[in-house]
Amino acid sequence: KKEQLQADLLIIGAGPGGYVSAIYAAKRGIKTVIVEKLSMGGTCLNVGCIPTKALIKSSEVFHNIMKAEDFGITVKDVQLDMAKVIDKKDEIKNTLVSGIDYLLSKNNVRIIRGSASFVNDKQVLVKNGKDEYTIEATDTIIATGSKIANINLPGIDHEFVLNSTSALKHKENISSITIIGGGVIGMEFAFIYSNFGIQVNVIEFCDRLLTMVDAEVSAEIKEIAMDRGIGVYTGAKVTKIEKDQSGKAIVIFEMDNSEKFITSEKVLVAIGRTPNMDDLDIEKAGIALNEKGKGISVNEHLQTSAEHIYAIGDVTNRIQLAHVASHEGIAVVDHILGTPSHVDYGMVPNVIFTSPEIASVGLTEEQAVLKNMDISISKFPFQANGKALTMREEKGFIKLIKDLSSGKIVGASIIGPEASALISTLTIMMNSNITEEEIIHTIFAHPTTGEAIHEAVLGFSIGALHFD
Ligand code: FAD
Repeated sequence: KKEQLQADLLIIGAGPGGYVSAIYAAKRGIKTVIVEKLSMGGTCLNVGCIPTKALIKSSEVFHNIMKAEDFGITVKDVQLDMAKVIDKKDEIKNTLVSGIDYLLSKNNVRIIRGSASFVNDKQVLVKNGKDEYTIEATDTIIATGSKIANINLPGIDHEFVLNSTSALKHKENISSITIIGGGVIGMEFAFIYSNFGIQVNVIEFCDRLLTMVDAEVSAEIKEIAMDRGIGVYTGAKVTKIEKDQSGKAIVIFEMDNSEKFITSEKVLVAIGRTPNMDDLDIEKAGIALNEKGKGISVNEHLQTSAEHIYAIGDVTNRIQLAHVASHEGIAVVDHILGTPSHVDYGMVPNVIFTSPEIASVGLTEEQAVLKNMDISISKFPFQANGKALTMREEKGFIKLIKDLSSGKIVGASIIGPEASALISTLTIMMNSNITEEEIIHTIFAHPTTGEAIHEAVLGFSIGALHFD
């Protein structure tokens, strides 16, 4: 079958960038076509945000059952069935994926399955087996996301080496794993496996875990990880992976000027993702890459060097977060419609779903210091929050950074229970320029982890009420 299509807007890729843009555009009256070569929802729904969070929840349920005594409950004969854990995760993923198909269709977005490539800057060709579609659109959004980065490491091809995608399908129970990479994906998996009672070691090249978070938060998560028995090796460079006689993995690395090794059943490589421009033929549309040659270059309106072609999300190689991709898509549609649009990259909340969770918005202390800001810091520990204690999750803190010259809170970092939910309150506060006084006079329900925000803000003036 061959078909010619005309549209106002063509979107390539149906991840959180592409599908949200499509629904938003259609709701705003734009005739929209979306092309997807694999599965609706992209990385996020299929092999990213959602499946990892489903596994985290299963692992936390298991972990809580194992420490049920803390809740006054005796539990016997606990069995972990990884195959079922994976199946349950897939059920959630499938529900959400079919939900997107439904929403796109309901909003009259035309869905084309297949792989898209540019013929020139006006035409895109989509191939799906013997079917071919030629699409001409007034505007185009490239939202093809990212893929797992290749790493040149001897032994990477051993059968026991997993990446974030294959790990999400792995149905056998395992006893030990070495994780190469202490970034967001590596640390989320570290806690998933550790919660399941699996021996975990993390090897990180940089001198600390999670380099993007506040140094104190990074130190706290390292301590919490080590308290739980996770081995953490920072400033360590993996040189090769070997297989021992019994078929186990030996990860060899250099640290403190000496060679060390760790033996485990599996290895997970979590060293990052790279923009996915496979099959796109962007050069045929005259689209330029950014200066590092990695990812599509865009201006402040997310326009590429061909101004009617936009690029959003992971393919621009800037911030790899689903909500940034979605928000950029909405901004592009607004720009096309001539509505003022703006993405404030300084106000992007970032959550890392370790146990406990980490969340931040705005500046870290180091960033504020680098900007030569005159700052004041207020910290409130969850050990002084009643709700955290009832949850048996009293570790961690909220840390706020105030710019003394403007009096504004310019940064918030949380490590502790419900950090992922609490960060929304702080993001609204900072994004809407709500003053310290206004927060102090806001009533926070008791007992909630949200009270820790109130206390941390009070810390700037009279001091917290429940902590010295
Ligand atoms: P993607 O989601 O990658 O979607 C791109 C889509 O384009 C894919 O479906 C692909 O098949 C399609 N495509 C590519 N090329 C073509 C082509 N030529 N023709 C047609 N279709 C094409 N982010 C968060 O915010 N929170 C999290 O908790 C989180 N957890 C993560 C956990 C893991 C393990 C991973 C790997 C990522 C996680 N992320 C998380 C990051 C998040 O998944 C990405 O930032 C997000 O998916 C980017 O969205 P996107 O729309 O740019 O691209």
